[in-house]
Amino acid sequence: MSATEQMRAMLDQLMGTSRVGPDDKQRSTKYRFTDSQVCKSFLLNCCPHEILASTRMDIGECPKVHEFALRADYNKASKTQHYGYELNVSFPFIFLLFTLN
Ligand SMILES: [Zn+2]
Repeated sequence: MSATEQMRAMLDQLMGTSRVGPDDKQRSTKYRFTDSQVCKSFLLNCCPHEILASTRMDIGECPKVHEFALRADYNKASKTQHYGYELNVSFPFIFLLFTLN
């Protein structure tokens, strides 16, 4: 990753998708954090694909979208609205716990 790409990623992470402008054409990604293609676990910083990477239980790359700008958007929006993603995200971990025991 070049230095420019790293800076762009850092700005996305800090300021969200609308850092260039509020207009849809100016957004840094075509996705919104509410889209079904976006990994809700990633938004909560607990995607099992990332957590288990390079372990014996590695389940491969996550098929859903991971973008730091979307996480920033979610963090901002979740302060005023509840999306219920925490409940959906906890199911794979509960299943994993029962599988391990
Ligand atoms: Zn994921």
